[in-house]
Amino acid sequence: MNKPVLLIVDDDPQVLAAVRRDLRSRYRENYMIIGAPSGEEALSAMRELKSRGDSLALIICDQRMPGMMGSEVLAQSRAIYPLARRVLLTAYSDIDAAIKAINEAHLDHYLSKPWQPPEERLFPVVDDLLDAWQAEYLPEAKGLRLVGFQWSPQSHAIKDYLASNLIPYRWLDVARDADARALLDAAGVTNEELPALFFDDGSPVLRNPAPRQVAERLGKPLTAAFDLYDLAIVGAGPAGLAAAVYGASEGLRTLLLDRHSPGGQAGSSSRIENYLGFPAGVSGSELTRRAIAQAQRLGAEFLAPLEVTGVSIEGGYKSLALSDGRKIVTRALLAATGMSYREHLAPGIKEHTGAGVYYGAATTEAAAFRDRHVTVVGGGNSAGQGAIYLARYATEVDIVIRRESLRDTMSQYLIEQIEKTPNIHLRPQTEIEKVEGDGHVESVVFKSLTDGSTASHPADALFIFIGTRPRNDWLPPEVLLDEKGFVLTGRDLMAAEGYARIWKEQREPLLLETSVHGVFAAGDLRSGAMNRVASAVGEGSMVVRLVHEYLTLT
Ligand SMILES: Cc1cc2nc3c(=O)[nH]c(=O)nc-3n(C[C@H](O)[C@H](O)[C@H](O)COP(=O)(O)OP(=O)(O)OC[C@H]3O[C@@H](n4cnc5c(N)ncnc54)[C@H](O)[C@@H]3O)c2cc1C
Repeated sequence: MNKPVLLIVDDDPQVLAAVRRDLRSRYRENYMIIGAPSGEEALSAMRELKSRGDSLALIICDQRMPGMMGSEVLAQSRAIYPLARRVLLTAYSDIDAAIKAINEAHLDHYLSKPWQPPEERLFPVVDDLLDAWQAEYLPEAKGLRLVGFQWSPQSHAIKDYLASNLIPYRWLDVARDADARALLDAAGVTNEELPALFFDDGSPVLRNPAPRQVAERLGKPLTAAFDLYDLAIVGAGPAGLAAAVYGASEGLRTLLLDRHSPGGQAGSSSRIENYLGFPAGVSGSELTRRAIAQAQRLGAEFLAPLEVTGVSIEGGYKSLALSDGRKIVTRALLAATGMSYREHLAPGIKEHTGAGVYYGAATTEAAAFRDRHVTVVGGGNSAGQGAIYLARYATEVDIVIRRESLRDTMSQYLIEQIEKTPNIHLRPQTEIEKVEGDGHVESVVFKSLTDGSTASHPADALFIFIGTRPRNDWLPPEVLLDEKGFVLTGRDLMAAEGYARIWKEQREPLLLETSVHGVFAAGDLRSGAMNRVASAVGEGSMVVRLVHEYLTLT
Protein backbone atom coordinates (compact mmCIF):
# COMPACT_ATOMS: atom_id res chain seq x y z
CA MET A 1 0.00 0.00 0.00
CA ASN A 2 1.18 3.55 -0.75
CA LYS A 3 2.25 5.81 2.05
CA PRO A 4 -0.36 8.36 3.20
CA VAL A 5 0.04 11.75 1.56
CA LEU A 6 0.87 15.21 2.93
CA LEU A 7 -0.26 17.83 0.40
CA ILE A 8 1.18 21.38 0.30
CA VAL A 9 -0.60 24.03 -1.75
CA ASP A 10 1.07 27.37 -2.54
CA ASP A 11 1.28 29.52 -5.66
CA ASP A 12 4.69 30.88 -4.60
CA PRO A 13 7.21 28.31 -5.86
CA GLN A 14 9.80 29.29 -3.24
CA VAL A 15 7.43 28.86 -0.31
CA LEU A 16 6.12 25.60 -1.78
CA ALA A 17 9.65 24.25 -2.13
CA ALA A 18 10.61 25.37 1.38
CA VAL A 19 7.62 23.72 3.09
CA ARG A 20 8.15 20.52 1.08
CA ARG A 21 11.84 20.47 1.98
CA ASP A 22 11.12 20.95 5.71
CA LEU A 23 8.40 18.28 5.76
CA ARG A 24 10.51 15.82 3.75
CA SER A 25 13.37 16.17 6.22
CA ARG A 26 11.18 14.74 8.96
CA TYR A 27 8.26 12.77 7.50
CA ARG A 28 9.48 11.20 4.26
CA GLU A 29 9.94 7.78 5.81
CA ASN A 30 6.25 7.39 6.62
CA TYR A 31 4.51 9.83 4.30
CA MET A 32 4.60 10.88 0.68
CA ILE A 33 4.95 14.68 0.40
CA ILE A 34 3.51 16.30 -2.70
CA GLY A 35 2.88 19.90 -3.77
CA ALA A 36 0.33 21.75 -5.90
CA PRO A 37 0.73 25.31 -7.22
CA SER A 38 -2.97 26.30 -7.07
CA GLY A 39 -6.24 25.44 -5.35
CA GLU A 40 -7.71 23.98 -8.54
CA GLU A 41 -4.73 21.68 -9.07
CA ALA A 42 -4.78 20.65 -5.43
CA LEU A 43 -8.44 19.62 -5.65
CA SER A 44 -7.87 17.65 -8.83
CA ALA A 45 -4.84 15.92 -7.22
CA MET A 46 -7.04 15.00 -4.23
CA ARG A 47 -9.67 13.48 -6.52
CA GLU A 48 -7.03 11.44 -8.29
CA LEU A 49 -5.55 10.22 -5.01
CA LYS A 50 -9.02 9.24 -3.85
CA SER A 51 -9.77 7.26 -6.99
CA ARG A 52 -6.48 5.36 -6.56
CA GLY A 53 -7.45 4.48 -3.01
CA ASP A 54 -4.64 6.54 -1.45
CA SER A 55 -4.98 8.16 1.95
CA LEU A 56 -4.53 11.88 2.51
CA ALA A 57 -3.41 12.76 6.02
CA LEU A 58 -2.77 16.49 5.93
CA ILE A 59 -3.25 19.52 3.70
CA ILE A 60 -1.24 22.69 4.30
CA CYS A 61 -2.64 25.43 2.12
CA ASP A 62 -1.62 29.05 1.64
CA GLN A 63 -4.50 31.50 2.15
CA ARG A 64 -3.67 34.14 -0.47
CA MET A 65 -3.57 32.58 -3.90
CA PRO A 66 -4.87 33.91 -7.21
CA GLY A 67 -8.07 32.13 -8.18
CA MET A 68 -9.15 30.12 -5.19
CA MET A 69 -8.37 31.26 -1.64
CA GLY A 70 -6.82 28.70 0.71
CA SER A 71 -9.82 28.59 3.05
CA GLU A 72 -12.06 27.75 0.07
CA VAL A 73 -9.72 24.93 -1.04
CA LEU A 74 -9.74 23.51 2.49
CA ALA A 75 -13.53 23.78 2.74
CA GLN A 76 -13.95 21.89 -0.56
CA SER A 77 -11.40 19.26 0.43
CA ARG A 78 -13.74 18.09 3.20
CA ALA A 79 -16.05 16.47 0.68
CA ILE A 80 -13.14 14.41 -0.72
CA TYR A 81 -11.15 13.62 2.42
CA PRO A 82 -13.31 14.35 5.49
CA LEU A 83 -10.72 13.01 7.95
CA ALA A 84 -7.63 14.77 6.56
CA ARG A 85 -6.21 17.42 8.88
CA ARG A 86 -6.39 20.98 7.48
CA VAL A 87 -3.86 23.74 8.10
CA LEU A 88 -4.05 27.25 6.67
CA LEU A 89 -0.75 29.01 6.02
CA THR A 90 -1.21 32.75 6.57
CA ALA A 91 0.68 35.98 6.67
CA TYR A 92 0.36 37.73 10.05
CA SER A 93 -2.07 40.23 8.47
CA ASP A 94 -4.41 37.36 7.47
CA ILE A 95 -4.95 35.91 10.91
CA ASP A 96 -8.50 37.27 11.05
CA ALA A 97 -9.35 35.38 7.86
CA ALA A 98 -7.83 32.25 9.38
CA ILE A 99 -9.91 32.53 12.52
CA LYS A 100 -13.02 32.98 10.38
CA ALA A 101 -12.06 29.90 8.37
CA ILE A 102 -11.95 27.78 11.55
CA ASN A 103 -15.70 27.32 11.32
CA GLU A 104 -16.23 27.48 7.58
CA ALA A 105 -13.39 25.24 6.45
CA HIS A 106 -13.25 23.16 9.65
CA LEU A 107 -9.65 24.20 10.03
CA ASP A 108 -7.54 22.25 12.49
CA HIS A 109 -4.77 24.81 12.74
CA TYR A 110 -3.44 28.02 11.21
CA LEU A 111 0.24 28.59 10.83
CA SER A 112 1.63 32.06 10.30
CA LYS A 113 4.62 32.62 8.08
CA PRO A 114 7.54 32.36 8.62
CA TRP A 115 7.44 28.95 10.33
CA GLN A 116 11.19 28.79 11.07
CA PRO A 117 12.71 27.14 12.97
CA PRO A 118 10.55 24.16 11.87
CA GLU A 119 11.58 22.14 14.95
CA GLU A 120 9.76 24.67 17.09
CA ARG A 121 7.00 26.08 14.93
CA LEU A 122 6.11 23.47 12.31
CA PHE A 123 6.94 19.93 13.46
CA PRO A 124 5.13 19.98 16.85
CA VAL A 125 1.92 21.09 15.10
CA VAL A 126 2.25 18.54 12.30
CA ASP A 127 3.19 15.75 14.76
CA ASP A 128 0.09 16.45 16.78
CA LEU A 129 -2.22 16.57 13.77
CA LEU A 130 -0.79 13.39 12.28
CA ASP A 131 -1.18 11.57 15.62
CA ALA A 132 -4.82 12.57 15.72
CA TRP A 133 -5.33 11.53 12.10
CA GLN A 134 -3.62 8.18 12.67
CA ALA A 135 -5.99 7.50 15.57
CA GLU A 136 -9.06 7.94 13.37
CA TYR A 137 -8.03 6.65 10.01
CA LEU A 138 -8.49 3.07 8.90
CA PRO A 139 -6.89 1.74 5.73
CA GLU A 140 -9.37 0.17 3.35
CA ALA A 141 -10.51 -3.34 4.21
CA LYS A 142 -8.13 -3.72 7.15
CA GLY A 143 -8.78 -3.76 10.86
CA LEU A 144 -12.08 -4.55 12.56
CA ARG A 145 -15.18 -4.94 10.47
CA LEU A 146 -18.66 -4.97 11.96
CA VAL A 147 -21.37 -6.45 9.76
CA GLY A 148 -25.05 -6.08 10.57
CA PHE A 149 -28.34 -4.41 9.79
CA GLN A 150 -28.55 -0.62 10.15
CA TRP A 151 -31.90 -0.91 11.96
CA SER A 152 -30.76 -3.38 14.57
CA PRO A 153 -30.44 -2.08 18.17
CA GLN A 154 -27.76 -4.76 18.79
CA SER A 155 -25.70 -3.40 15.89
CA HIS A 156 -26.09 0.13 17.24
CA ALA A 157 -24.92 -1.01 20.69
CA ILE A 158 -21.69 -2.48 19.29
CA LYS A 159 -21.08 0.50 17.00
CA ASP A 160 -21.60 2.79 19.96
CA TYR A 161 -19.25 0.74 22.13
CA LEU A 162 -16.48 0.71 19.50
CA ALA A 163 -16.85 4.37 18.53
CA SER A 164 -16.96 5.73 22.05
CA ASN A 165 -14.01 3.58 23.13
CA LEU A 166 -12.11 5.08 20.16
CA ILE A 167 -11.61 1.69 18.53
CA PRO A 168 -11.44 2.18 14.73
CA TYR A 169 -13.70 -0.18 12.78
CA ARG A 170 -15.46 -0.39 9.47
CA TRP A 171 -19.25 -0.71 9.41
CA LEU A 172 -20.82 -2.84 6.67
CA ASP A 173 -24.60 -2.77 6.29
CA VAL A 174 -25.86 -6.09 4.91
CA ALA A 175 -28.71 -4.35 3.14
CA ARG A 176 -26.47 -1.87 1.30
CA ASP A 177 -22.95 -3.20 1.08
CA ALA A 178 -22.02 -5.92 -1.38
CA ASP A 179 -18.82 -6.79 0.58
CA ALA A 180 -20.90 -7.58 3.65
CA ARG A 181 -22.74 -10.57 2.23
CA ALA A 182 -19.53 -12.01 0.76
CA LEU A 183 -17.82 -11.73 4.13
CA LEU A 184 -20.73 -13.42 5.97
CA ASP A 185 -20.98 -16.22 3.45
CA ALA A 186 -17.26 -16.90 3.65
CA ALA A 187 -17.46 -17.23 7.45
CA GLY A 188 -20.81 -19.09 7.45
CA VAL A 189 -22.57 -16.42 9.54
CA THR A 190 -26.38 -16.36 9.29
CA ASN A 191 -28.61 -13.28 9.55
CA GLU A 192 -29.83 -14.47 12.97
CA GLU A 193 -26.25 -14.26 14.29
CA LEU A 194 -25.78 -10.59 13.38
CA PRO A 195 -24.12 -8.30 14.15
CA ALA A 196 -20.83 -10.09 13.51
CA LEU A 197 -17.41 -8.71 14.29
CA PHE A 198 -14.52 -9.72 12.03
CA PHE A 199 -10.86 -9.41 13.01
CA ASP A 200 -7.94 -9.17 10.60
CA ASP A 201 -5.67 -11.51 12.58
CA GLY A 202 -7.62 -14.59 11.58
CA SER A 203 -9.25 -15.03 15.02
CA PRO A 204 -12.84 -16.35 15.06
CA VAL A 205 -15.74 -14.08 14.22
CA LEU A 206 -17.76 -12.82 17.20
CA ARG A 207 -21.45 -13.47 16.56
CA ASN A 208 -24.03 -11.14 18.13
CA PRO A 209 -21.66 -10.27 20.99
CA ALA A 210 -22.35 -8.12 24.06
CA PRO A 211 -20.04 -5.08 24.46
CA ARG A 212 -18.33 -6.88 27.32
CA GLN A 213 -17.37 -9.81 25.07
CA VAL A 214 -15.97 -7.36 22.52
CA ALA A 215 -13.92 -5.71 25.27
CA GLU A 216 -12.60 -9.08 26.39
CA ARG A 217 -11.65 -10.11 22.85
CA LEU A 218 -9.89 -6.81 22.27
CA GLY A 219 -7.85 -7.37 25.40
CA LYS A 220 -9.40 -4.52 27.41
CA PRO A 221 -8.99 -5.30 31.11
CA LEU A 222 -12.22 -5.89 33.05
CA THR A 223 -10.75 -7.04 36.35
CA ALA A 224 -9.13 -4.77 38.91
CA ALA A 225 -5.43 -5.40 39.53
CA PHE A 226 -5.50 -4.68 43.30
CA ASP A 227 -7.72 -5.49 46.26
CA LEU A 228 -7.61 -2.00 47.70
CA TYR A 229 -7.37 1.45 46.08
CA ASP A 230 -6.65 4.89 47.53
CA LEU A 231 -9.09 6.46 45.10
CA ALA A 232 -11.79 4.84 42.99
CA ILE A 233 -13.48 7.09 40.46
CA VAL A 234 -16.88 6.12 39.10
CA GLY A 235 -17.52 7.72 35.72
CA ALA A 236 -14.88 8.51 33.11
CA GLY A 237 -16.32 11.76 31.78
CA PRO A 238 -14.19 14.91 31.93
CA ALA A 239 -14.43 15.11 35.74
CA GLY A 240 -13.42 11.47 36.28
CA LEU A 241 -10.65 11.62 33.69
CA ALA A 242 -9.16 14.75 35.25
CA ALA A 243 -9.27 13.16 38.71
CA ALA A 244 -7.57 10.05 37.33
CA VAL A 245 -4.76 12.13 35.81
CA TYR A 246 -4.15 14.05 39.05
CA GLY A 247 -4.70 11.08 41.35
CA ALA A 248 -2.26 8.85 39.48
CA SER A 249 0.32 11.60 38.97
CA GLU A 250 0.27 12.38 42.67
CA GLY A 251 0.99 8.83 43.68
CA LEU A 252 -2.48 7.61 44.68
CA ARG A 253 -3.39 4.07 43.69
CA THR A 254 -6.18 5.15 41.36
CA LEU A 255 -8.92 3.15 39.64
CA LEU A 256 -11.26 4.65 37.03
CA LEU A 257 -14.45 2.80 36.05
CA ASP A 258 -17.09 3.48 33.45
CA ARG A 259 -20.27 1.63 32.53
CA HIS A 260 -19.70 2.39 28.87
CA SER A 261 -16.51 4.12 27.70
CA PRO A 262 -14.29 7.10 28.53
CA GLY A 263 -15.46 10.59 27.57
CA GLY A 264 -18.95 10.78 29.05
CA GLN A 265 -21.25 13.34 27.48
CA ALA A 266 -18.27 15.29 26.21
CA GLY A 267 -17.15 12.22 24.26
CA SER A 268 -20.33 12.44 22.19
CA SER A 269 -19.76 16.09 21.32
CA SER A 270 -18.79 16.60 17.69
CA ARG A 271 -16.97 19.84 18.46
CA ILE A 272 -16.23 21.49 21.79
CA GLU A 273 -15.58 25.10 20.89
CA ASN A 274 -14.96 26.66 24.27
CA TYR A 275 -12.31 24.50 25.93
CA LEU A 276 -9.23 26.50 26.81
CA GLY A 277 -6.24 26.05 24.51
CA PHE A 278 -8.08 24.74 21.44
CA PRO A 279 -8.75 27.81 19.25
CA ALA A 280 -10.06 25.65 16.41
CA GLY A 281 -12.30 23.63 18.77
CA VAL A 282 -11.72 19.99 19.59
CA SER A 283 -13.93 16.99 19.06
CA GLY A 284 -15.06 15.11 22.16
CA SER A 285 -13.41 11.93 20.91
CA GLU A 286 -10.09 13.69 20.40
CA LEU A 287 -10.14 15.22 23.88
CA THR A 288 -11.06 11.82 25.33
CA ARG A 289 -8.29 10.03 23.43
CA ARG A 290 -5.71 12.41 24.85
CA ALA A 291 -7.13 12.33 28.38
CA ILE A 292 -7.41 8.56 28.74
CA ALA A 293 -3.93 8.09 27.27
CA GLN A 294 -2.57 10.61 29.77
CA ALA A 295 -4.35 9.03 32.76
CA GLN A 296 -3.12 5.54 31.85
CA ARG A 297 0.42 6.71 31.13
CA LEU A 298 0.56 8.25 34.59
CA GLY A 299 -0.52 4.94 36.12
CA ALA A 300 -4.31 5.09 36.56
CA GLU A 301 -6.08 1.79 35.96
CA PHE A 302 -9.15 1.96 33.71
CA LEU A 303 -11.92 -0.62 33.48
CA ALA A 304 -14.86 -0.45 31.03
CA PRO A 305 -17.58 -1.42 30.33
CA LEU A 306 -18.26 -2.03 34.00
CA GLU A 307 -21.17 -0.50 35.89
CA VAL A 308 -21.12 0.31 39.57
CA THR A 309 -24.49 -0.75 40.94
CA GLY A 310 -24.12 0.14 44.62
CA VAL A 311 -21.81 1.24 47.42
CA SER A 312 -21.61 0.12 51.01
CA ILE A 313 -19.63 1.94 53.66
CA GLU A 314 -17.65 -0.29 55.98
CA GLY A 315 -15.70 1.75 58.52
CA GLY A 316 -13.34 3.97 56.56
CA TYR A 317 -13.65 1.74 53.50
CA LYS A 318 -16.08 1.98 50.62
CA SER A 319 -17.04 -1.23 48.89
CA LEU A 320 -18.29 -0.86 45.31
CA ALA A 321 -20.65 -3.49 43.91
CA LEU A 322 -20.05 -4.09 40.20
CA SER A 323 -22.49 -5.27 37.54
CA ASP A 324 -20.46 -8.50 37.09
CA GLY A 325 -21.06 -9.40 40.75
CA ARG A 326 -17.54 -8.52 41.91
CA LYS A 327 -16.56 -5.93 44.51
CA ILE A 328 -13.84 -3.30 44.72
CA VAL A 329 -12.69 -1.67 47.95
CA THR A 330 -11.35 1.86 48.15
CA ARG A 331 -10.41 4.37 50.82
CA ALA A 332 -11.77 7.40 48.97
CA LEU A 333 -14.47 7.45 46.32
CA LEU A 334 -15.26 10.02 43.66
CA ALA A 335 -18.76 10.01 42.19
CA ALA A 336 -18.45 11.52 38.71
CA THR A 337 -21.34 9.80 36.94
CA GLY A 338 -22.69 13.02 35.41
CA MET A 339 -25.99 12.96 33.61
CA SER A 340 -27.75 10.90 30.99
CA TYR A 341 -30.37 11.77 28.41
CA ARG A 342 -33.97 12.16 29.47
CA GLU A 343 -36.33 9.78 27.72
CA HIS A 344 -38.86 11.01 25.17
CA LEU A 345 -42.25 9.46 25.83
CA ALA A 346 -44.06 9.96 22.48
CA PRO A 347 -45.61 6.77 21.03
CA GLY A 348 -43.28 4.82 18.74
CA ILE A 349 -40.07 6.05 20.35
CA LYS A 350 -39.44 3.18 22.71
CA GLU A 351 -39.93 0.45 20.11
CA HIS A 352 -37.67 2.22 17.59
CA THR A 353 -34.82 3.03 19.97
CA GLY A 354 -31.67 1.78 18.24
CA ALA A 355 -33.64 1.28 15.01
CA GLY A 356 -33.69 4.89 13.85
CA VAL A 357 -34.28 6.56 17.23
CA TYR A 358 -31.06 7.54 19.00
CA TYR A 359 -30.29 9.40 22.20
CA GLY A 360 -27.33 11.68 21.38
CA ALA A 361 -25.22 9.38 19.17
CA ALA A 362 -25.09 11.90 16.29
CA THR A 363 -21.39 11.28 15.73
CA THR A 364 -21.75 7.49 15.83
CA GLU A 365 -24.63 7.23 13.38
CA ALA A 366 -24.28 10.29 11.12
CA ALA A 367 -22.47 8.51 8.28
CA ALA A 368 -25.23 5.88 8.09
CA PHE A 369 -27.68 8.66 7.21
CA ARG A 370 -25.81 10.02 4.22
CA ASP A 371 -28.35 11.36 1.68
CA ARG A 372 -31.22 10.65 4.07
CA HIS A 373 -33.66 12.80 6.00
CA VAL A 374 -33.30 13.10 9.79
CA THR A 375 -35.02 14.93 12.63
CA VAL A 376 -33.37 16.34 15.75
CA VAL A 377 -35.50 17.13 18.77
CA GLY A 378 -34.22 19.63 21.33
CA GLY A 379 -33.01 23.23 21.43
CA GLY A 380 -29.87 23.11 23.59
CA ASN A 381 -26.23 23.25 22.55
CA SER A 382 -25.96 19.49 22.26
CA ALA A 383 -28.92 19.44 19.81
CA GLY A 384 -27.30 22.27 17.83
CA GLN A 385 -23.94 20.51 17.61
CA GLY A 386 -25.67 17.26 16.68
CA ALA A 387 -27.73 18.91 13.91
CA ILE A 388 -24.68 20.64 12.41
CA TYR A 389 -22.74 17.38 12.39
CA LEU A 390 -25.64 15.43 10.87
CA ALA A 391 -26.08 18.08 8.16
CA ARG A 392 -22.69 17.10 6.74
CA TYR A 393 -24.18 13.77 5.72
CA ALA A 394 -27.99 13.97 5.60
CA THR A 395 -29.79 15.82 2.82
CA GLU A 396 -32.29 17.42 5.22
CA VAL A 397 -32.16 17.96 8.97
CA ASP A 398 -35.26 19.21 10.83
CA ILE A 399 -34.78 20.64 14.32
CA VAL A 400 -37.99 20.42 16.33
CA ILE A 401 -38.37 22.76 19.32
CA ARG A 402 -41.28 23.78 21.48
CA ARG A 403 -40.15 27.38 21.90
CA GLU A 404 -40.46 30.19 19.35
CA SER A 405 -36.73 30.34 18.76
CA LEU A 406 -33.38 28.97 19.87
CA ARG A 407 -32.36 32.29 21.40
CA ASP A 408 -32.75 31.37 25.08
CA THR A 409 -31.46 27.83 24.92
CA MET A 410 -28.55 27.70 22.45
CA SER A 411 -25.25 29.58 22.18
CA GLN A 412 -25.17 32.34 19.58
CA TYR A 413 -22.29 30.80 17.60
CA LEU A 414 -24.30 27.61 17.06
CA ILE A 415 -27.43 29.56 16.09
CA GLU A 416 -25.36 31.40 13.48
CA GLN A 417 -23.90 28.16 12.11
CA ILE A 418 -27.40 26.67 11.87
CA GLU A 419 -28.68 29.73 10.03
CA LYS A 420 -25.84 29.39 7.53
CA THR A 421 -26.45 25.68 6.91
CA PRO A 422 -29.02 25.45 4.09
CA ASN A 423 -30.10 21.85 4.74
CA ILE A 424 -31.07 22.49 8.40
CA HIS A 425 -34.67 23.59 8.94
CA LEU A 426 -35.87 24.87 12.30
CA ARG A 427 -39.41 23.84 13.25
CA PRO A 428 -40.34 26.14 16.15
CA GLN A 429 -43.43 25.73 18.35
CA THR A 430 -43.64 22.11 17.33
CA GLU A 431 -43.44 18.81 19.18
CA ILE A 432 -43.06 15.18 18.23
CA GLU A 433 -46.49 13.57 18.28
CA LYS A 434 -45.33 10.07 17.34
CA VAL A 435 -42.80 8.05 15.40
CA GLU A 436 -43.93 5.61 12.71
CA GLY A 437 -42.28 2.81 10.80
CA ASP A 438 -42.19 -0.88 10.19
CA GLY A 439 -39.12 -2.25 11.99
CA HIS A 440 -37.33 1.10 11.65
CA VAL A 441 -38.22 4.78 11.59
CA GLU A 442 -39.93 5.89 8.38
CA SER A 443 -41.72 9.06 9.40
CA VAL A 444 -42.17 11.40 12.32
CA VAL A 445 -45.47 13.14 13.03
CA PHE A 446 -45.04 16.79 14.07
CA LYS A 447 -47.69 18.61 16.07
CA SER A 448 -48.01 22.40 15.84
CA LEU A 449 -48.28 24.03 19.26
CA THR A 450 -49.96 27.08 17.76
CA ASP A 451 -53.02 25.43 16.19
CA GLY A 452 -52.78 21.77 17.26
CA SER A 453 -52.55 20.49 13.66
CA THR A 454 -50.45 17.41 12.92
CA ALA A 455 -48.45 16.46 9.82
CA SER A 456 -46.36 13.42 8.97
CA HIS A 457 -42.80 14.10 7.74
CA PRO A 458 -40.56 11.53 6.09
CA ALA A 459 -37.60 10.79 8.35
CA ASP A 460 -35.10 7.94 8.51
CA ALA A 461 -33.96 8.80 12.00
CA LEU A 462 -34.83 10.82 15.08
CA PHE A 463 -31.99 12.08 17.30
CA ILE A 464 -33.17 13.05 20.78
CA PHE A 465 -31.48 15.75 22.87
CA ILE A 466 -34.19 16.84 25.32
CA GLY A 467 -32.29 17.33 28.51
CA THR A 468 -30.68 15.15 31.06
CA ARG A 469 -31.13 13.62 34.49
CA PRO A 470 -28.50 12.96 37.17
CA ARG A 471 -27.08 9.43 37.33
CA ASN A 472 -27.43 8.92 41.06
CA ASP A 473 -29.17 5.52 41.22
CA TRP A 474 -26.03 3.68 42.41
CA LEU A 475 -25.33 5.94 45.41
CA PRO A 476 -26.28 4.89 48.95
CA PRO A 477 -29.18 6.76 50.63
CA GLU A 478 -26.76 8.45 53.07
CA VAL A 479 -25.46 10.58 50.18
CA LEU A 480 -27.76 13.59 50.35
CA LEU A 481 -29.24 15.00 47.14
CA ASP A 482 -30.93 18.29 46.25
CA GLU A 483 -34.57 18.38 45.17
CA LYS A 484 -33.60 17.55 41.54
CA GLY A 485 -31.44 14.58 42.49
CA PHE A 486 -27.99 16.21 42.23
CA VAL A 487 -25.42 15.42 44.92
CA LEU A 488 -24.90 18.02 47.66
CA THR A 489 -21.32 18.75 48.66
CA GLY A 490 -19.32 20.94 51.06
CA ARG A 491 -21.04 23.80 52.82
CA ASP A 492 -24.27 23.31 50.81
CA LEU A 493 -24.81 20.17 52.87
CA MET A 494 -25.16 21.96 56.14
CA ALA A 495 -28.57 23.38 55.37
CA ALA A 496 -29.85 20.04 54.03
CA GLU A 497 -32.43 18.02 55.88
CA GLY A 498 -30.79 14.93 57.34
CA TYR A 499 -27.30 16.44 57.50
CA ALA A 500 -27.02 16.39 61.31
CA ARG A 501 -28.33 12.82 61.39
CA ILE A 502 -25.77 11.55 58.85
CA TRP A 503 -22.60 13.64 59.29
CA LYS A 504 -20.90 12.56 62.55
CA GLU A 505 -17.40 13.99 62.05
CA GLN A 506 -15.97 16.78 64.22
CA ARG A 507 -14.88 18.68 61.10
CA GLU A 508 -17.01 20.28 58.37
CA PRO A 509 -17.30 18.44 55.05
CA LEU A 510 -14.49 19.33 52.64
CA LEU A 511 -15.32 21.44 49.58
CA LEU A 512 -16.40 18.62 47.23
CA GLU A 513 -17.14 16.03 49.91
CA THR A 514 -20.64 14.56 50.16
CA SER A 515 -22.56 13.76 53.35
CA VAL A 516 -20.57 10.51 53.59
CA HIS A 517 -17.00 11.23 54.61
CA GLY A 518 -14.46 10.15 52.04
CA VAL A 519 -17.08 10.10 49.28
CA PHE A 520 -16.63 13.06 46.92
CA ALA A 521 -18.62 14.32 43.94
CA ALA A 522 -17.47 16.34 40.92
CA GLY A 523 -18.81 17.46 37.55
CA ASP A 524 -22.39 17.46 36.32
CA LEU A 525 -23.61 15.09 39.04
CA ARG A 526 -22.87 17.70 41.71
CA SER A 527 -25.55 20.14 42.83
CA GLY A 528 -24.66 23.59 41.47
CA ALA A 529 -22.41 22.23 38.68
CA MET A 530 -21.72 24.50 35.72
CA ASN A 531 -22.35 21.79 33.10
CA ARG A 532 -19.22 22.56 31.13
CA VAL A 533 -16.25 20.43 30.18
CA ALA A 534 -13.84 22.93 31.73
CA SER A 535 -15.68 23.11 35.06
CA ALA A 536 -15.94 19.31 35.27
CA VAL A 537 -12.20 19.06 34.56
CA GLY A 538 -11.53 21.75 37.17
CA GLU A 539 -13.52 19.95 39.85
CA GLY A 540 -12.01 16.59 38.98
CA SER A 541 -8.54 18.09 39.34
CA MET A 542 -9.35 19.88 42.60
CA VAL A 543 -10.86 16.85 44.23
CA VAL A 544 -7.54 15.04 44.37
CA ARG A 545 -6.11 17.59 46.78
CA LEU A 546 -9.18 17.10 48.98
CA VAL A 547 -8.75 13.34 48.80
CA HIS A 548 -5.17 13.74 50.09
CA GLU A 549 -6.52 15.86 52.93
CA TYR A 550 -9.15 13.25 53.75
CA LEU A 551 -6.65 10.38 53.64
CA THR A 552 -4.35 12.16 56.09
CA LEU A 553 -7.30 12.62 58.47
CA THR A 554 -8.16 8.92 58.56
C1 LIG B 1 -23.60 16.54 22.82
C2 LIG B 1 -22.99 17.38 23.93
C3 LIG B 1 -22.21 18.47 23.59
C4 LIG B 1 -21.59 19.24 24.60
N1 LIG B 1 -20.80 20.28 24.23
C5 LIG B 1 -20.15 21.01 25.17
C6 LIG B 1 -19.28 22.06 24.79
O1 LIG B 1 -19.10 22.37 23.60
N2 LIG B 1 -18.62 22.73 25.78
C7 LIG B 1 -18.79 22.43 27.11
O2 LIG B 1 -18.14 23.04 27.95
N3 LIG B 1 -19.64 21.44 27.50
C8 LIG B 1 -20.33 20.74 26.57
N4 LIG B 1 -21.20 19.74 26.94
C9 LIG B 1 -21.39 19.49 28.38
C10 LIG B 1 -20.25 18.63 28.93
O3 LIG B 1 -20.00 17.56 28.05
C11 LIG B 1 -20.56 18.11 30.34
O4 LIG B 1 -20.73 19.22 31.18
C12 LIG B 1 -19.43 17.21 30.87
O5 LIG B 1 -19.24 16.09 30.03
C13 LIG B 1 -19.72 16.73 32.30
O6 LIG B 1 -18.71 15.86 32.66
P1 LIG B 1 -18.84 14.81 33.87
O7 LIG B 1 -17.52 14.14 33.95
O8 LIG B 1 -19.35 15.49 35.07
O9 LIG B 1 -19.98 13.78 33.45
P2 LIG B 1 -20.35 12.98 32.12
O10 LIG B 1 -19.70 13.60 30.94
O11 LIG B 1 -21.84 12.90 32.13
O12 LIG B 1 -19.72 11.53 32.35
C14 LIG B 1 -20.24 10.63 33.28
C15 LIG B 1 -19.71 9.22 33.00
O13 LIG B 1 -20.16 8.36 34.05
C16 LIG B 1 -20.47 7.08 33.50
N5 LIG B 1 -21.41 6.40 34.43
C17 LIG B 1 -22.67 6.78 34.73
N6 LIG B 1 -23.20 5.93 35.65
C18 LIG B 1 -22.25 4.99 35.91
C19 LIG B 1 -22.19 3.85 36.78
N7 LIG B 1 -23.21 3.53 37.57
N8 LIG B 1 -21.06 3.09 36.78
C20 LIG B 1 -19.99 3.42 36.00
N9 LIG B 1 -20.01 4.50 35.17
C21 LIG B 1 -21.11 5.28 35.13
C22 LIG B 1 -21.09 7.41 32.15
O14 LIG B 1 -21.00 6.30 31.25
C23 LIG B 1 -20.23 8.61 31.70
O15 LIG B 1 -19.13 8.19 30.92
C24 LIG B 1 -21.82 18.95 25.97
C25 LIG B 1 -22.66 17.87 26.32
C26 LIG B 1 -23.24 17.09 25.31
C27 LIG B 1 -24.14 15.94 25.68
